[in-house]
Amino acid sequence: MSNVTPMMAQYLEIKADHTDALLFYRMGDFYEMFFDDAVAAAQALDIALTKRGKHDGADIPMCGVPFHAAEGYFLTLIRKGFRVAVCEQMESPAEAKKRGSKSVVRREVVRLVTPGTLTEDALLEARRHNFLAVFAEVRDQAALAWADISTGAFHVMPLSVARLGPELARLAPSELIVSDSSDARLYAVAEELGIALTPLSRASFDSTAAAKRLCTLFAVGTLDAFGMFERAEISAMGALIDYLEITQKGKLPLLQKPQRDAEDRVVQIDAATRRNLELTRSLSGSRSGSLLSVIDRTVTPGGARLLEQRLSSPSRVVELVQSRLDAVTFALDHDQWASDLRSALRKTPDLDRALSRLSLDRGGPRDLAAVRNGLAQAQVIADLCDAFELPLLLSTAARDLSGFDDLTALLNTALVAEPPLLARDGGFIAVGFDTELDEARTLRDEGRSVIAQMQKRYAEHTGITSLKIKHNNVLGYFIETTSTHAAKMQTPPMSDSYIHRQTTANQVRFTTVELNEMETRILNAGNRALEFEKQLFERLRAAILDVAARIGLASRALAELDLASSLADLASGENWCRPKVDTSRAFAVSGGRHPVVEHALRQQGGESFIANDCDLSANGDAAIWLLTGPNMAGKSTFLRQNALIALLAQIGSYVPAASAHVGLVSQLFSRVGASDDLARGRSTFMVEMVETAAILNQADDRALVILDEIGRGTSTYDGLSIAWATLEHLHASNRCRALFATHYHELTALAGKLTGVENATVTVKEWQGEVIFLHEVKMGAADRSYGVQVAQLAGLPQSVLDRARVVLKALEQGEREGGATQKALIEDLPLFSTAPPPPVAVKPSPALDLLHDIHPDELSPKQALDLIYKLKEAA
Ligand code: ADP
Repeated sequence: MSNVTPMMAQYLEIKADHTDALLFYRMGDFYEMFFDDAVAAAQALDIALTKRGKHDGADIPMCGVPFHAAEGYFLTLIRKGFRVAVCEQMESPAEAKKRGSKSVVRREVVRLVTPGTLTEDALLEARRHNFLAVFAEVRDQAALAWADISTGAFHVMPLSVARLGPELARLAPSELIVSDSSDARLYAVAEELGIALTPLSRASFDSTAAAKRLCTLFAVGTLDAFGMFERAEISAMGALIDYLEITQKGKLPLLQKPQRDAEDRVVQIDAATRRNLELTRSLSGSRSGSLLSVIDRTVTPGGARLLEQRLSSPSRVVELVQSRLDAVTFALDHDQWASDLRSALRKTPDLDRALSRLSLDRGGPRDLAAVRNGLAQAQVIADLCDAFELPLLLSTAARDLSGFDDLTALLNTALVAEPPLLARDGGFIAVGFDTELDEARTLRDEGRSVIAQMQKRYAEHTGITSLKIKHNNVLGYFIETTSTHAAKMQTPPMSDSYIHRQTTANQVRFTTVELNEMETRILNAGNRALEFEKQLFERLRAAILDVAARIGLASRALAELDLASSLADLASGENWCRPKVDTSRAFAVSGGRHPVVEHALRQQGGESFIANDCDLSANGDAAIWLLTGPNMAGKSTFLRQNALIALLAQIGSYVPAASAHVGLVSQLFSRVGASDDLARGRSTFMVEMVETAAILNQADDRALVILDEIGRGTSTYDGLSIAWATLEHLHASNRCRALFATHYHELTALAGKLTGVENATVTVKEWQGEVIFLHEVKMGAADRSYGVQVAQLAGLPQSVLDRARVVLKALEQGEREGGATQKALIEDLPLFSTAPPPPVAVKPSPALDLLHDIHPDELSPKQALDLIYKLKEAA
């Protein structure tokens, strides 16, 4: 290390502690990266890679980004799977010098930026949660804890490894923490769902240490205060807090008291079903095209986050569903109130995220203003609610909105209307709030006007009217004049007062004792003002954090009010109905629609959506509809719309139907569409069978199952037999409510044999050899499949269509007359033949004749060029 510069020595020492992250090493206005970090970052960020100095005889690769633009770079790096260690200068160069002439500025890593620990608005989607999840195993127990440090939400639940995948699919955390001794299964689960996985030392999972950590964090003597947690839950929560301490370097975000979730309180939906139903994300991964995108009418980020959360976890608790529905009904019945409420909500800033930044000491004056404005709006909303007899959910919410008079009064008098972004520049505390600050500011500002007077005086004194007093960071205040006038000031007696400071190309600069003194006064006053403002910032921050828990409650109340009124807006705008939700096993929908397909059709402006009924309300029995009909008739749409109606009902929303009766659904399964999973080496058929197996093994009698075209991925007879057996199993063993779409007409025979299985079909009409889709679902079986007609619609060549009709006829006739005849008929079919395409008539062309006569080998370049001109003419 002898020939290593002191700075490089410091860099290497810090880097050694952060080998798994890119080290952003602060140097002045830049973050710089060195060695392999620089190479990786330059590539990932698409910025220039340069070098700085040498290490062990080799050049040191280096790249850098300006500190004020760092947030954007963090985001890119995180999206590409990196972690970033942010290393700041902890003292000024002047302070370092004081310690010793050779000292480098002291630097420390102040924060690890990881996907699950973001708080900056620029890095977060305002309308989504950003969860950090931890999975812990203690002997034969396991648990999942998760938190959103940008809002303070904190949850935990016992969870078996087998259920980890579905739960993670529900929460969609951006980062999963596991013990570094975990086995490969967990890595596979995270990878499949595209979640960044971070192994953490086993020591962080120690449940005894974890309990202590939790008690300290929540300032309680024992964890019993929050309910009885299992060891694995405590371990998971403790590891989560430890990870936050590691990444935030000791600064802990405000976390709410851990809320224990239970699997049996929410509808269980596995990852495949979530994907297939496109609840919060469409199959292409974007929000648009998802159910969420068409039902989201919330007007606050908090409301939007709550909606996404509800939609990911529909409830199984009938009272909860009812109370949420009551809230929507109330908003519908009081439309003026709801519309006033929504206008007030629109003006409410994101309290949660402002609060979280303040707690992590990453906040600025605008976060103080966000709290001020948010609480003021909360009071406005509380007053709006006052005049009404609200249903329970809303009245509870309204109660949490007020009681912040002292804090809002303080913030109102303390802050200017629109504060600047950064505290360090000052200017956010209102005039009249603090006398000391006002005095310092007056002194500073008066100084400035004194300087203006001085300039006037000096101009008169010297007779140089163009003389100016200017300011820069190097010289501070100085008098400036042109070189031509300078001589006058440099000769006595004037030279006694004007002290020369600098000569530039065209200007000469001076100062005076008086000006120097004034400058010091201004500087001191300015610094004092800034210092006062910083202290006041801390005071306001502390005042807010003092009641942080209550502000958190108010914020959740606002989200709840937003959600209820936005669902009411949706229901009235889209003409949805209040579902009847109870503990029966009913599932009866009349006039049901698929909200996303309906929305898409409306946007296209073509045909409108045909509403359909569905009734799976068999008493005590399995209740299965076997749906047949040609491709493109609307089978999948029908299946999905019913699943979505059940889910919407259980999040406490109105539903797209004329009426609906939903007996609580405990689990929702779907096997729809065919998606190859080639990346994992699974064929379509394999994926289909894995998903079907999961359904048959897990669905209980309160499940709702939708199966679309089971067995399509294999040969006809294989497929048919698998579909047949699956249907029988659902009927006899699972005894659940199910919709089963199939193109195997043979299955319709089962309806007659199994009680509770009924045939339904999506109707089509044939007209002049073409099919017309009516999209109407009726009881009964489809008469035929119309595959050839659909193929025609898709534009298959006429010759192929004709041939298909012949083969189909032979097959159908054969089927009627028995296997032997079928074989004979098929063998007798004349072979497929298409007439050779008609010869394309070639027009005689002089250009072609010319070309024909050319012998390129014999041409000079000049001749070739001439020929090109001739060809062009002839063409
Ligand atoms: P299938 O599953 O029978 O092949 P889909 O459910 O995929 O058919 O529907 C095909 C298309 O038909 C959809 O994309 C939609 O545009 C239209 N469609 C389906 N159901 C309806 C309906 N009830 N009303 C109007 N259009 C519909």
